[in-house]
Amino acid sequence: MDEERPDNLEKPEILAPDELEAASVVARSFIRSVLGSIGWGIKFAGSAIVDLCLPRSCADCQKIGTLPQKSWCGPCWEKIGRIDPPLCPGCGRPFGDAPSSPDHLCGDCIERSFRFDSARSAAIHEGAVRTRVHQFKFGGQLKWTPCLVELLEAAYTAWELPAPDLIVPVPLHLKRLSERGFNQAGVLARELGRKIKTPVSACALVRKNQTLPQTRLKRGERLQNVKGAFEVSDKSTVRGRRILLIDDVFTTGTTLSECAKILKRKGGASEVYALTVTRALPD
Ligand SMILES: [Zn+2]
Ligand SMILES: [Zn+2]
Repeated sequence: MDEERPDNLEKPEILAPDELEAASVVARSFIRSVLGSIGWGIKFAGSAIVDLCLPRSCADCQKIGTLPQKSWCGPCWEKIGRIDPPLCPGCGRPFGDAPSSPDHLCGDCIERSFRFDSARSAAIHEGAVRTRVHQFKFGGQLKWTPCLVELLEAAYTAWELPAPDLIVPVPLHLKRLSERGFNQAGVLARELGRKIKTPVSACALVRKNQTLPQTRLKRGERLQNVKGAFEVSDKSTVRGRRILLIDDVFTTGTTLSECAKILKRKGGASEVYALTVTRALPD
């Protein structure tokens, strides 16, 4: 989502890795540098083997010893405010205060406010996950990509969505892209696509107008802000396809809804679903 960089963003952490972690980091970089001088295919395969064999440290408590291929240790994974039922089957809004109640549509979905078919988010935008999203997005700390993609993948699996034909990230305007150096939604989409073996198109949808950060605006202003901001650059990629739209944060859903509208109306997409790492709940 188009979120404003918070003033109180923590400075990038200077980790104090213990000896095991330090050895792991050194081993990884050494092996990767050796692999870097070999062919791409071998490098990719070798890199996956490195990830399988060497331990990772937890994305929250930093302790070494998460399970292989996992970014969070057991206790920290349990601490994450993951979004589980009961929730709105339309937009995925959690009804966490009534754990025994059944799923039912929220007010926004009853009013048909959204143009995506349905949406889900992995976790509430709070605590360690929120910190990692901000460090990833505003601090350029791409090392947090695996821990965020792990959350996306868990939410995708729990969703039991019919398999999408294509993954599309919410695009950034070129000016914002050149300032930031990367599109956070694009990085998440690419890694999720690799995990669930689904093609990703980072350029099927483009942002033609530069919009204000959505967090500064009220709901009505948000709708106006993103209206007409997107266009489909390659209809042949999108037409008739079931699309999974990816972003980092779901706040009011207006950006995702506008993207879904354009993908369907202008691109001819058959269905559009939206998945984000976190969901910011209204105060
Ligand atoms: Zn931990
Ligand atoms: Zn809803």
